[in-house]
Amino acid sequence: MYDVKGQLHHVLDALPEGVRLVAISKYHPNEYIEAAYEEGQRIFGESHEQELRQKHETLPKDIEWHFIGHLQTNKVKYIAPYVTMVEAVDSLKLLKEIDKQAAKCERVIDVLLELHIAEEETKYGLTPEACRQLLADGEWRQLNHVRICGLMMMASYVDDEQQIRSEFRLAHSLFDEIKERYFADAPWFCERSWGMSHDYPIAVEEGSTMVRVGTSIFGPRVY
Ligand SMILES: *Cc1c(COP(=O)(O)O)cnc(C)c1O
Repeated sequence: MYDVKGQLHHVLDALPEGVRLVAISKYHPNEYIEAAYEEGQRIFGESHEQELRQKHETLPKDIEWHFIGHLQTNKVKYIAPYVTMVEAVDSLKLLKEIDKQAAKCERVIDVLLELHIAEEETKYGLTPEACRQLLADGEWRQLNHVRICGLMMMASYVDDEQQIRSEFRLAHSLFDEIKERYFADAPWFCERSWGMSHDYPIAVEEGSTMVRVGTSIFGPRVY
């Protein structure tokens, strides 16, 4: 088996205090997650509802599961009873569905708004303008079963460190703007989820509070 424990500690040692690790376990078997769990890791991230469901059912119940992928509204009901955080909310429609399903479970679900800043073409994530619009629109204020805890984003997958850095900086400045305008009195709005295997050291330098690292811990994924 891949040296999950050694790799996990390598990543953890690189994180300053106050930065949490979401171990991205998608496509990796339970035994890999158990190895990290034995070392004290409790936050894991998955991006497919069915895979997450199977892992949630078979692994220890004190694991905090973050849903990090694109979530279809018709899948929300399956994860609402147990998911700790939905990291990639990119529409009011999805936010409202999470609120509705969380209410049915008598829970409040923590969420992050996903920004699309990278230059890559992707359908997912809110542009800074769309993110401002969603918040300005105000309907989210009526949703009592979701708690917006911050922003998440993926930088462009490039070698150019300056570009990656400038994307993180843009996300950070948007975070500051939103915090001041809407969440100044909301201590839970404090999460900046950025940094993956290839760029988490830069992300940490640029104010990440939560890195999402998969490959550097569990090795290459077998699809
Ligand atoms: C897969 C994934 C990660 C982890 O990527 P690695 O390069 O394996 O660290 C982080 N964030 C999201 C949204 C992902 O889908």
